[in-house]
Amino acid sequence: MANTTRATPLPNEHVLVAGGAGYVGSHVAWLLCRLGFKVTVLDDLSTGHRHAVPHSATFVHCDARDTALVSRVFAESRPTAVMNFAALSLVGDSYRNPIGYIAHNLTITLNLAKAAAETGVSSFLLSSTASIFGNEASQPIAEEAPVRPGNPYGESKAMCEQVLRWLEATTGIRTAALRYFNASGALLSSNLGEAHDPETHLIPIVIQAALGLRDGVDIFGDDYPTADGTCIRDYVHVLDLADAHVKTLLALRTAGGLRYNIGSGRGYSVRQIVHAVERETGHRIPVRRRPRREGDPTTLIACNDRIRNELGWRPVNSGLATIIGSAWKWHVNHPSGFDTLR
Ligand code: UDP
Repeated sequence: MANTTRATPLPNEHVLVAGGAGYVGSHVAWLLCRLGFKVTVLDDLSTGHRHAVPHSATFVHCDARDTALVSRVFAESRPTAVMNFAALSLVGDSYRNPIGYIAHNLTITLNLAKAAAETGVSSFLLSSTASIFGNEASQPIAEEAPVRPGNPYGESKAMCEQVLRWLEATTGIRTAALRYFNASGALLSSNLGEAHDPETHLIPIVIQAALGLRDGVDIFGDDYPTADGTCIRDYVHVLDLADAHVKTLLALRTAGGLRYNIGSGRGYSVRQIVHAVERETGHRIPVRRRPRREGDPTTLIACNDRIRNELGWRPVNSGLATIIGSAWKWHVNHPSGFDTLR
């Protein structure tokens, strides 16, 4: 597994990673620590895992919706940069509680932005999502595509991006938003991987079915206008995502207003993922046809030209075999997720 960033921290450079015990946040915190950055992880552990936080990071157990508490953490730890991964991120859940979802994600970003402005932070990077684009007809999706979220979760992230715009315009804090397509895969050398409870994401679900931990895979809709009728997504390895964060952090030393779509640039249907896991693991996976899941766009494929051209990023670990192979080994070694490490 390769990562391409060779970064040296500046003296006093200190990154506060909100949500750094979660899936993507923990991989980014791990890479920052490995490169020698000073890292503080702030997480309420509602969905994240204490075992996923790197040993060399300072850990603060904190609900980032608490405005006064966040301000106090910033005043005491004096970070120079902020990365925000702390959010509710399930499309289906966001329909059951749309206002709660938007309030939750927006409150966290507002609190972090306020504390950043109060304490002289110089850069702010937001974990955003392809969901801000909704059911975009033109694929692959470039950064210029209209922001038209198709579900409350995507709307909450689009609103957080607006907060960044005004934070930058009024305080001079340089900002970036990275719109991930489908984060996937694991970092075996560091015991990091994807563990949600309940699990809703396709690749871990298919792998759990291959392992016999569930009796099959529900396919949410096979009547979409695609070759096999199932939705198409762009799967990007979490280590490539981490690399994109570090490259963006370095770019934020001198540039602001950065917006990048982060994906491999290739799309796979739900059925193709099931077949790929069958191929990689040698296990047959039963599937069941189910109705469409509310808010699912037909196709999401990233145009990644901008980050390639501006920052030299490459999705070097995002071949499907690498993604599925690493995820498979993580789940074999951690059948109970991070509880396996207790
Ligand atoms: N999906 C599915 N069965 C599942 C989980 C997901 O058919 O058990 C589909 C889902 O409808 C979507 C794709 O797989 O089209 C990717 O879903 P996931 O939840 O992994 O990521 P999302 O694209 O929602 O961020």
